[in-house]
Amino acid sequence: MLPTTRPTITEEEIAAVVECLRSGQLASGPRTEAFEAALAIRLQARHVLATNTGTAALHLAVLAAGVLPGDEVVTTPMTWVSTANVILHAGAKPIFADVEPGTLNLDPVSVEKMVTPRTKAILPVHYAGQPCDMDALQEIASAHDITVVEDAAHALGGSYKGTPIGAISDLTMFSFHPAKNMTTAEGGAVATQSDEKAERIRRLRYHGLAKGTGDRVAGTGIATYEAIEPGFKYSMGDLQATLGLLQLERLDERNARRRDLAQLYRERLAPVRHVEPLRDVPYEHEHAWYMMVVSVDCDALGLDRDGVVYALRDAGVGAGVHFVPLHLQALYRPMVADPAMLSAATDANGRILSLPFFPEMTEHDVDFVVDTLEKTLAQHAR
Ligand SMILES: *Cc1c(COP(=O)(O)O)cnc(C)c1O
Repeated sequence: MLPTTRPTITEEEIAAVVECLRSGQLASGPRTEAFEAALAIRLQARHVLATNTGTAALHLAVLAAGVLPGDEVVTTPMTWVSTANVILHAGAKPIFADVEPGTLNLDPVSVEKMVTPRTKAILPVHYAGQPCDMDALQEIASAHDITVVEDAAHALGGSYKGTPIGAISDLTMFSFHPAKNMTTAEGGAVATQSDEKAERIRRLRYHGLAKGTGDRVAGTGIATYEAIEPGFKYSMGDLQATLGLLQLERLDERNARRRDLAQLYRERLAPVRHVEPLRDVPYEHEHAWYMMVVSVDCDALGLDRDGVVYALRDAGVGAGVHFVPLHLQALYRPMVADPAMLSAATDANGRILSLPFFPEMTEHDVDFVVDTLEKTLAQHAR
């Protein structure tokens, strides 16, 4: 079966990881620092702090935003579960706003309606790698004196009106999970423009130890340490950073390949009935093309969305669902006051699916996917 996604790993990257293994320096150290520095330059961010997962990075970003028990954070239901889980871990409540039906990005009009005096942050997700309307979201945030924390798990290498994702908000999170545009096997990072927030994240990332104590960097390690708040063990190791340094060098090249594949998909899909790719946002941007999501018109078919996904899988096309909206899942359903306010996200759940999409796909693979989809839809058209 053609998979939904697959990481691109070169022989050079494998050799570098093997060399790191032989060095004996596996935990966080000089390679992690070098990776953070390289990423900060690429993102034009003041600080980058690498972590062991994207979820850990987002947890730290939410805490650094000052989110406290009892607070509310306005976010999107069209995301992976960790986006809202970390809000709960901070003791706060996720408040879901609706998405724009064409892009599945957070709709600023809906966000504005969800803001209350308890709101501490807005947490947008750049869905599939296409930047959200950051000017509109920043405007709401500054009007209410609250913070924006970006979940940019899909948007590494993307930009909004000329500014790289990672240099816009005070806090931006990235993921280096193997499915993402760039991988460290598992890993993540927070980019921040604030010295104070960087220091808090650094502390929470490594057990809550005071600055300068417990510093494990080879050669500069201080033998003693002092805990000043209950932190986590969220640091990235040098093994992961070794892979990350080389993956980062190829990020733009691989994102360009993603863009070409997306263009090819859109050309091939244009004449196919009952299916439509997502729309482009109207402002200047660079799409990071993490996923190829299409919307299927199930009203015209004798098959629901899940049926289409299973039929494609039976035919060798590894289609996926990104995402099951959070407000429709058991954990979050009871927290939603008025599901009617989330109608675009609910409606998308009956239509969206993700097609196989990764840099090593060939033109032939794209043709195979589109042909299979076309046949499946034609077979089940009413
Ligand atoms: C992948 C992903 C995450 C979590 O990243 P991990 O590195 O897997 O922890 C968070 N949010 C979104 C939108 C994601 O797609």
